[in-house]
Formats: sequence, C-alpha cells, structure tokens
Amino acid sequence: MGQRPKEKDLKGVIPGVMRILGKFSPYIRKQRLTIIGAFFALLIETGLRLLEPWPLKYVFDNILIPAHSNTNIPNSFGLSAVMLLAISSLAIVGITGIGSMAAYLSTYGMSLAVVEVLSEVRGQVFDRLQRLSLSFHQQHKSGDLITRVTADIEKMRLVTVKTALPLLTNIILLLGMLAIMYWLNWELALVATAIFPLLTLLTSKTIGRIRSFAKQHRDSEGVLAATTSETIGAIKVVQVLSLQEMLHSIFAAQNQKSLDEAIASLKLSAALERTVQVLMAIIIAAVLWRGSHVVLHKGLTPGELLVFMTYLKNALEPMRKLSTQVGQIAKATASGERVVELLEYEPNVRDLPGAKKAHPFFGAIQFENVSFGYNADKEILKDISFVVQPGQQVAVVGPSGSGKSTLISLILRLYDPNSGRILIDSQDLREYTLDSLRQQIAVVLQDSVLFAASVQENIAYGKLGATRKEVERAARLANAHEFIMQLPQGYDTILGERGGTLSGGQRQRIAIARAAIRQAPIVILDESTTGLDGASERTVNAALARLTEGRTTFTISHNLRAVQQADIILYVEGGSILEQGTHSELMRLGGHYATLYQMQSIVDNDTSVGDTYAIEA
Ligand code: ADP
Repeated sequence: MGQRPKEKDLKGVIPGVMRILGKFSPYIRKQRLTIIGAFFALLIETGLRLLEPWPLKYVFDNILIPAHSNTNIPNSFGLSAVMLLAISSLAIVGITGIGSMAAYLSTYGMSLAVVEVLSEVRGQVFDRLQRLSLSFHQQHKSGDLITRVTADIEKMRLVTVKTALPLLTNIILLLGMLAIMYWLNWELALVATAIFPLLTLLTSKTIGRIRSFAKQHRDSEGVLAATTSETIGAIKVVQVLSLQEMLHSIFAAQNQKSLDEAIASLKLSAALERTVQVLMAIIIAAVLWRGSHVVLHKGLTPGELLVFMTYLKNALEPMRKLSTQVGQIAKATASGERVVELLEYEPNVRDLPGAKKAHPFFGAIQFENVSFGYNADKEILKDISFVVQPGQQVAVVGPSGSGKSTLISLILRLYDPNSGRILIDSQDLREYTLDSLRQQIAVVLQDSVLFAASVQENIAYGKLGATRKEVERAARLANAHEFIMQLPQGYDTILGERGGTLSGGQRQRIAIARAAIRQAPIVILDESTTGLDGASERTVNAALARLTEGRTTFTISHNLRAVQQADIILYVEGGSILEQGTHSELMRLGGHYATLYQMQSIVDNDTSVGDTYAIEA
C-alpha cells in the first residue's frame, strides 16, 4: 500500500506517447489528410512568427540609426525612408494577420482530427469492455472503467488540442529562433544556449515526478468514482444498514489522498515555472552584456541585436510553457496508457484460433470431469460429469453457494473450466465461436435486467434485428402481450432504469419474451420465479413451460416441487454432484435430495407459502 510508482523523467513520457500513438495509429492514419493540412498551416504560422521582429530591425538599421547619427547614406534597398517605413508597418500587420489565419486553420484542423480519432478509440474501448470476460469485470471496479471511457479520453482530447499542438508550435518556433540566432552571430548564440542543458536537466527530473503524482492522482480519482458508483448502486442497502458514516469516512480518506496528490503535482509545476523564469532572466542579462560588446565592435548591427533580444524574450514564453506543457502531456499520457491498457487486455475467454461458427444445435450437453475455480486457490466445481440428451429438462438443485450458477455459467462460456471438457452436440464448446454459441442459448435470470428503452427494444435485444411481428409472437408466448397493450404506449412504452415501472412478474415475462425470441435450442432458467407472489408465479411458470417445450433446459430452483417433473435432477453440494436421477429415483435413494424435499414439504404444509428460503439459509 501507498507504494509510489517508479518515477520517470521526460524520457519516460516518450515511450508512453509512442505506445499510445502506435495503438491509435489505424485511426490516426484515417485522418492523415487533415493532420498534414493542419501541420502545414502550423509551419506557416511559426515561420511568420519568426519574421515578427524583422520589420523593426529594418526600421532601426536603415532609418532611425542613420537619421539619428546624421549619416545621410541611402538605405540598402534604395528606397526612400518613408517608403521603407510604410512597407515595414504594413508587414507588421500582414505578418500577424496571415499568421493568425494559419494558427486558426492549424488549431481547427488538428482539433477535428483529434476528435475523430478519439471518438473511434472510445467506441473501441466500449466494445472491448463489453467483450472482456466476467472475471475481468469482477477484478475491476466499474467506476474505474467508466473513468477510462469518459474522463481519461476527454483528458487526452483536451491536452492534445490545448497543449500538444501549442507545444509542437513552440518547439518549431524555438528551433527556428535558434537557427536564426546562430546565423546572425554564433558566438552570441552560444552564450544564449549555454544554459539550455542545465535547464533540461533541471526540468526533466521534476517533470518525471509530476507525471508520477499525476498517475497516482488519476488512479485515486478512479477509486473515488468507484466508491461513489458502488454506494449509489447499493443505496438501499447503505441506508438500511446505516452505513453512511462509515462510507463517508472511507470516501473522505480517498478524497484527501486524491487532493494531496493533486497538490503535490501543482506545487512541483509552480516551482518549476518560477525556476525557468529566473534562469531566463539571467540568460537575457548575459546576452545583453555580451551583445552590446559585439555591436560596439561592429560584429552585429543594433537592429540585429534587437532581433536577438526579441527572440530571447519571445523564447521565454514558449520555454516557460514548455515545462508545464510537458507536465500536462505527462498527465494525459498517464490517461492514455490507462485506455491503451484496456485495449491491450486480452480477454481470457475468447474465440480460439480456428473456432468455427456453431451449426444449429440439437442440444445434447455433456460435462466430462469438469473442475473450475474463480481463483487458483479455491476450486468451486469438482470433477463434474453428466450427460443430457437433446430436449431434456434438467433441474439443478442444492444449497446456496454450492456452485449451481457457476455450473450453468460454464455452459454459456462465461468462464472456461480449469480442467475437463463441456461438449455440446459432441464437440467441445471452445471449438465454437463465442457469439454463435451464446446466440443459441436463451437465459432468464432471477432479477432480469431491463434496459431504459422501449418494451419492443427490450424484447428485440434477444435477437438483434427482430421484427415487430416476431416481438409480438414472443410476447404472446410469454403471457406478456395483454399487459404490454395496456401500457400507455403499448410496445413503444419506454421502461425506466432496470424496468422500475413494471411489477416483478411483468419484468420476468418481458425477460421470457426476450429469451423466447431467440428460438434457442438451449434454455437456462436461473431462479426465474424466485421472489414472485403466487399469482405471478403461476403466469410466469406457464410462460416458462411454453418457452422450454422441446428444448434442452437447465433450471436452477430452490423450490423442489417446481422441478419434480424434470428428466434429470442434479443435486449439487460443495461443488460436486452428489446425486443425479429423476425425482422418483432420488426419493427412492433416500439421500440429500429426499431429505431436502421432505423438509420443504413440511414447511410448505405448515405455512402454505411456497417460500423455501428458511431451509436454504
Ligand atoms: P449457487 O448458485 O449454488 O448459490 P454459486 O455458483 O453462485 O452458487 O457460487 C458457488 C461458490 O462460488 C460460492 O462459494 C461463491 O461465493 C463463489 N463465487 C460465485 N461467484 C464468484 C465469483 N465471481 N468470484 C469468486 N467466487 C465466486
């Protein structure tokens, strides 16, 4: 804990930037025309800025000084003084005017390219996030991931447009000034540049530290966002358990940490700026001293010294900014690397090389000595084997935490087994592409998630591109058509977040319609009726019976009465299948299943409520 990431100097920023550029290069290449155009405008802008002090030099050397010293020599252009003055004055306006135009074009062009590139990157990140396996999502906080899609990308956009582009202009400007200064008088230029290595040395160390604070700061912001989103997501639990004080103190500590890191980086940036400023003043004084000497010995004209001094003075601003700009870029690089990290993360459940699109399944499923654990140190499923024929109804029962949902999630290939194989129609399911596998499995969970979209869309999510007719057919099958027609806008009614405007039974029936529309040969029902009242449960059950007819079905249920008719009952406890067979076989066996069944019957008769939580707990 509290370990600081390795400090990096200026050179440390470059590999990061290269890594980001490399990853984004396909999108950057698409924008190359805009980028080249913007760069061209940028060159014009810097060229004109280099010309800025020259009209003044001509006025000085060719008009003012001769006039002042009463030497009536005609100026070197053979123009009258008034003419030269007029041209110089016009040049000042012209240079600034055209320069501003070029600056506008380069900023506009570059912004356009950056926005295009980043919006493609953002789409890519979102896509990747959806495809990364569940184990990835369990290891990463959603708030942190959200920050990467939103704030980190926004930071990159801002910094590229507002910092990287001006930085590029400044670098070209500084190089241009340097070249002209050496051309005018190399000795004086040498004096001016002598101090540069010291400056670089001094700034690079500080910039490295700013960068490392910035990365920590971004990470802390991610943690803050995660805490906030977790708290809001579980607000009911937070309030019921009165966790506000406790969560507030956790949040306050995280907030303080983030603040400290921000202040540390601000302090460093501010100190850096001041140091650069004082060093620049020393250079200017040295050049003035030495320069006057050179002019007196006719090594330079006074106008040229003026150009020299103006360049130096003008160099101060870009130089001063250079340090903060590099600091800013270091911060954005940290953001960029967090985004690239996501893009480079290989999902561990993915299409294997040579994976084929699955044929329409018959629905035969076989587990062969399957073992699995979420973490290396704990096995959740141990040596599971069973065979299911196409169209059979399978019930998975057993105490909470025994591994029922885990077993089912392996069929969906949300995780891969650590050892053993799962076969669908006699082929290892890893030989099928993920999409073609999952498309043939319909799932109804206990708490079905509905999206904040219309009823029609929510059902059609089961089969992308489904027509209204298909949606309606599925809704009828799910006993949902009647109540949907009574909603204010029927199928076009927009549901609230998580379907909050519907009752539990209605939500479930929409979820069943969503599963039905897939016409999938394999159906998974995970506690689909738990939590519904008797009447809702009956309608939902009727819908489920129609949904699963003739399809290989896995039902996880706490209510053993509901699964009596199953062709195979798997009794799971502690990650192993302890018993398997039909209801009558297992009752005859008189083992765990029979005991649980009898206990449930007693409770049911006592309370005449079909709720069996008491036994599970
Ligand atoms: P059931 O469905 O029978 O209630 P689960 O399959 O949900 O059981 O869980 C089996 C075991 O695996 C439990 O001990 C649970 O804590 C653990 N478990 C479930 N999901 C995860 C996960 N994503 N990461 C780590 N452990 C998990």
